[in-house]
Amino acid sequence: MYKISLITGDGIGPELSESAISVLNTINDKTDVKFEITKLLAGDIALKEKGKALPDETLAAIKNSDVCLKAPVGESAADVIVVLRRMLDLYANIRPAKSYPHMPALRDDIDMVIVRENTEDLYTGKEFSLGNASVALRIISENASKRIAKYAFEIAKQRDGMRKVTCVHKSNVMRITDGMFAKACADVAKDYPDITFEQMYVDACAMNLIRQPHQFDVVVTTNLFGDILSDESSQVVGGLGMAPAANIGDKFALFEPVHGAAFDIAGQNIANPSSFLLSIKMMFDWLAAKHNDSKCTEIGQKLESIIFGLVKDGIKTKDIGGDKTTAEFTAEITNRF
Ligand code: ATP
Repeated sequence: MYKISLITGDGIGPELSESAISVLNTINDKTDVKFEITKLLAGDIALKEKGKALPDETLAAIKNSDVCLKAPVGESAADVIVVLRRMLDLYANIRPAKSYPHMPALRDDIDMVIVRENTEDLYTGKEFSLGNASVALRIISENASKRIAKYAFEIAKQRDGMRKVTCVHKSNVMRITDGMFAKACADVAKDYPDITFEQMYVDACAMNLIRQPHQFDVVVTTNLFGDILSDESSQVVGGLGMAPAANIGDKFALFEPVHGAAFDIAGQNIANPSSFLLSIKMMFDWLAAKHNDSKCTEIGQKLESIIFGLVKDGIKTKDIGGDKTTAEFTAEITNRF
């Protein structure tokens, strides 16, 4: 029995959470993998109701669970996810971008993953005013850079892809910080002679994601560049509605969609739940590896192939050219399980 903590979030978060619960309950009923789900408050709603975006009881419940699912939160996102990533040392943010059939992708042969360093860079919150100037500290350490580089190479080793790691930075301008990141990645690359290693400036990478996205396999980069490039890579394969993410540490992991709370479509029952459900697929892969539980691998594969199948059959939500509501799309998934 796995204990899953679930932050239900803001904006479209509650709708995606309902979809996730429905799919998880079906898996609970129809398969041998069992779990209990604890719904938790965090984000704008928690700030309003409890006076804190990340209430102590939410944090305690997450720590008491085996794994956490997090729907998107709104304006207070930095007080929730950035804190959780650092507090739980979830140092690797994994963001796959894959062409699915009949999707508005730039090409049908894109299969890449962005590995984003998740604990440093401009996200440490060290900002201050200095006279009439405003300063933000960009912190990059050798240890964190080597740790994320190693993670990226290990992923490249396991994938069926081109066995290539592209280190993305801007060391021609940020010579000390990104110079260190680039050197750390190049040093780690020496331990992986079978994996091709290349370096690319972030502006060139942004362009190449449009020009030749199929040339990427694993991209490793710093926190802010990873945030920006993963929104771009999601769009390149058809949109944020299909974009999952994992925040992984040595002991714990948290899974969430790449996108934010999307207030413009909240409460309309039109959000695409695939981003969250494909994050749950990543959760099953992580549980499988951590607990040596091959049943979890099978469930993850089945969930992904059902979503693939639906999209292929033209059963889609509005954002990707279909007419299904969130609830209808979810029901199609549970029926096929
Ligand atoms: P943040 O800055 O909080 O990370 P973001 O930049 O990722 O957010 P969002 O508001 O999450 O931006 O998404 C941008 C737009 O993409 C939304 O306004 C919405 O129209 C669309 N979108 C995002 N997620 C989904 C979804 N699951 N289904 C359908 N449309 C979505």
